Amino acid sequence: MQLEHYNDSVQENHRQAREDARALGAFEAWIDGGSRAAASGETFDTRDPVVDDPILSVPRCDEADVDAAVEAAWDACDGEWGQTTPEERSRTLQEWVSVLRDHLDELALLESLDTGKPLAYAEGEVTKGLDFIEYYANICRAEGGKQIAAANDAHIYTRREPYGVVGCVTPWNYPLVLTSWKIGPALAAGNAVVLKPAEQSPLTALRIAELSEGILPDGVFNVVPGFGDEAGASVTGHPDVRKVSFTGEDVTGEAVMSAAAENITPVTLELGGKSPFVVFPDADVEQAAETVAGSITYNTGQSCDACSRAIVHEDVRDEFVERLVEEVESHTIGDPLAEDTTFGPLVSRAQYDKVNSYLKLGVEEGATLATGGGSVEGEGLDGGWFVEPAVFVDAENDMRIAQEEIFGPVETVVTFSTYEEAIELANDVPFGLAAGVATENGSLAHRAAADIDAGSIWVNKYYGRTVTGSPFGGFKRSGMGRECARDTLTSYTQEKTVHVPIEQDPTL
Ligand code: NAD
Repeated sequence: MQLEHYNDSVQENHRQAREDARALGAFEAWIDGGSRAAASGETFDTRDPVVDDPILSVPRCDEADVDAAVEAAWDACDGEWGQTTPEERSRTLQEWVSVLRDHLDELALLESLDTGKPLAYAEGEVTKGLDFIEYYANICRAEGGKQIAAANDAHIYTRREPYGVVGCVTPWNYPLVLTSWKIGPALAAGNAVVLKPAEQSPLTALRIAELSEGILPDGVFNVVPGFGDEAGASVTGHPDVRKVSFTGEDVTGEAVMSAAAENITPVTLELGGKSPFVVFPDADVEQAAETVAGSITYNTGQSCDACSRAIVHEDVRDEFVERLVEEVESHTIGDPLAEDTTFGPLVSRAQYDKVNSYLKLGVEEGATLATGGGSVEGEGLDGGWFVEPAVFVDAENDMRIAQEEIFGPVETVVTFSTYEEAIELANDVPFGLAAGVATENGSLAHRAAADIDAGSIWVNKYYGRTVTGSPFGGFKRSGMGRECARDTLTSYTQEKTVHVPIEQDPTL
């Protein structure tokens, strides 16, 4: 597929791109190694946020479809897949990744159309997502149990065994990457998966399932598109799902945890954030401002770990704000299919309304809008969910704009005068996903990294890039468990201890 051919008007580009997308696959639910409609026959539209037109209709799965997917997944576990060695699984997953890489362009197009992210960024994210699957395909061969040297009259060892069927539920902001974070380790560990992708962005999940045909045995990977309270809740509350891995909002995480608790199902929860970036007075202020601007505007601010609160020393506040505003205003806002676009629309009408309500709220709360908040001008952009990236200054940390996850391109700048105050402000939110510290003083950076309650701390540069193999996850309301890490593979297995007596006087 040629991606360069979208160089007409926005409307025409998107009409053509949607047509191209529809031709790529069936985009039905994927259950037991094949495409199928929802048992109810119901469908829903996934929409293009640039022009707000439907891209295509996908099955609206519910409990009946989830039951079928879970059953197929158990059949896979009880059959051929359950007997595979790590080496065999490694080769199978690598073959799949290789096929997916051959379809990189089309996966990037689907991701961009579904979410509104610039095509070039979508391509980078798909590449990264596939790398995560490959990583787990590689390291699963090194996974093993241990021997317990506690007794002379027994050989005691442990085995790491898959749970069986794992239920995964994902959000819309990085659809393929976040899917890979879950299915990579889950499948490499020998589980079968039932995945419920976000209703806003199911296309790449459905397409990679289609591209697993003839590679993954039937039932190993199932995708049930649909809504959270239907398909999603059916996955997370299913009595035959033995592990749940969820990424989404903290309040949804509560519901997921409660549903899983009924079956005593272990959960990994990757939830929201309100991450601080602390700028100390000795920092490279220009670099700090660039870093904050990049973090809050990448993916139109729809990143769980975006540093949405800049906590800036009063001595460097003016310089920082000036530079931050310049950086934020330097984006090329436009059609994600255009080559020079660096900033696309929000994912949906709901997200657009939410972000705009916070822009209004910030002003009502008494913060000053230093830039942004207006409507986006540009030919063909009127029908999309575009917002200007915004910076609030003169804010207090107890304002709702500084406490709640807006999940859009809205930065809130708060000032401090002492180290203790900076740390107190940084920690004074319900979340603890990520944080950044900017300083030229190495000791200060390490001290702050220890004092801030967050799962990831970035020193000086905060590019939100999750490095394969480095743990990612939250403190406090940002969740539990870690993804992307080597140990994540282990978290998709359960430990069994085997005790074998050793005769003290063996008869020969
Ligand atoms: P969301 O919680 O609304 O939805 C996430 C998924 O859960 C969707 O697939 C949805 O259909 C499903 N869902 C909704 N209700 C459900 C229920 N009762 N039972 C089971 N599933 C249900 O979140 P969203 O708006 O799609 O995504 C944005 C959120 O995700 C933000 O809070 C963001 O910070 C968070 N996020 C976290 C990480 C991380 O790694 N910590 C990464 C990306 C996004």
